[in-house]
Amino acid sequence: MTKLTDLTIAQALEGLAAKEFSAVELTEAHIAAMDKARSLNAFITETPDLAREQAKASDARRAAGEAKDLDGIPLGMKDLYCTKGVRTTAASKILENFVPPYESTVSQKLADAGSVMLGKTTLDEFAMGSSGGTSAFGPAISPWSGPNPAEAERKLIPGGSSSGSSTAVSARLAMGATGTDTGGSIRQPASITGIVGMKPTYGRCSRWGIIAFASSLDQAGPMARSVSDTALMLRVMAGFDRKDSTSVDISVPNYMDALTKSVKGLKVGIPREYRLDGMNKDTEKLWDQSAAMLRDAGAEVVDISLPHTKYALPVYYIIAPAEASSNLARYDGVRFGLRETGETLDAMYEATRSEGFGKEVQRRILIGTYVLSAGYYDAYYRKAQRVRRLIRNDFLEAFRSCDVILAPATPGTAFAFGEKTGDPVQMYLEDVFTVTLNLAGLPGLCLPVGLSQEGLPIGMQLIGRAFDESTLFTAASALERAAAFSHKPPFTA
Ligand code: GLN
Repeated sequence: MTKLTDLTIAQALEGLAAKEFSAVELTEAHIAAMDKARSLNAFITETPDLAREQAKASDARRAAGEAKDLDGIPLGMKDLYCTKGVRTTAASKILENFVPPYESTVSQKLADAGSVMLGKTTLDEFAMGSSGGTSAFGPAISPWSGPNPAEAERKLIPGGSSSGSSTAVSARLAMGATGTDTGGSIRQPASITGIVGMKPTYGRCSRWGIIAFASSLDQAGPMARSVSDTALMLRVMAGFDRKDSTSVDISVPNYMDALTKSVKGLKVGIPREYRLDGMNKDTEKLWDQSAAMLRDAGAEVVDISLPHTKYALPVYYIIAPAEASSNLARYDGVRFGLRETGETLDAMYEATRSEGFGKEVQRRILIGTYVLSAGYYDAYYRKAQRVRRLIRNDFLEAFRSCDVILAPATPGTAFAFGEKTGDPVQMYLEDVFTVTLNLAGLPGLCLPVGLSQEGLPIGMQLIGRAFDESTLFTAASALERAAAFSHKPPFTA
């Protein structure tokens, strides 16, 4: 029989319904896996007692015939989601001892659907980064680094910023996990660790109670080991919320119906601007193969152009830091978390923020403050907003001739810690294929399609029209069937 920790969410729900195992057994299997995987540092805070309690309650519900959509499914929660009574750090020293008195809307919805929370997963500090390396509590290590990742010569990154979530799901410590995606933080780590990650349309999921990075770009989304599992999770996570004025009041379709639809006649756009010089050869090959697979399944592949792509990264690195500098102003030593002492109020602020924020966060605050300051606002911020509109228009234009867009999720595969950390610009380039969607507010799904020569996962990204996650699930499901990715990281062998 398949190990409990190897099951997909869909399979586990069937097993639970058929009484093959209980939610308590399923949860215990994951807690045992977490115990053995502590060297991966996937979690900042583990919550085994809470998980056991929730699992017991889940079994009782099922016995009473009241099972909910995700009843008994053990999940990891990115430590950016506020969880009532459970420490929430954003991987920052400034929130090291912060215990929220409230629950984020999305984590509440997941709890209401009967899921079990295993713990709070590691991330880049305030979700700023692409490797997990900026966490104040040490980075998560990819289970693809080797059978014993902590001792591997090249300790590979699990992507970022949702690095603990990608690690936990790919290492079989959790069946699924939540992520947030401001510029690629769900899709890039999913791609790097060989799992599925979905960034919904801006406004699809409530941001309420999720610690803000860049409010006009942030979105919550699911990470799991199959396309259908992300569909199951998104169905629960999505929906209008009065408490988030940017969440959109439209109905949430049953995404499961989309999974079995045919892609016959679907138009798949290949953006020519995404074919970068010096792109990883394996990535390029798998991109072509993925297009061919969709064509074989009945889709029509068309060439499209997104002419303003080259401005996306510079625009993102003006807008995201600008919003971050404003959002992070609230960490002043007065209301949340850490407080250092100082002779005057200003000195207290300065000491608290210098001590509490890591280097990358300070860098972003500096850039953000600069681009918003008088005189530079027009030169940088206002211009960036105009170009953002052009990037969005590119997509609107492209979607006149196609229904989904297919592109790589990242330019390369996992790298080792230290290889890009010295050069912020190299790190920022990780997001070249992902930030465009955040700027345009569109949904994107990343799924694994193959391995590189060195045996590391490569993911493809499907991009859809606003609020058309269903078509993404249809296309992704067809590509998943054709690519039949079944590789597991060496750590799980
Ligand atoms: N890597 C990008 C950044 O550092 C995106 C992060 C994210 O999506 N949260 O800003």
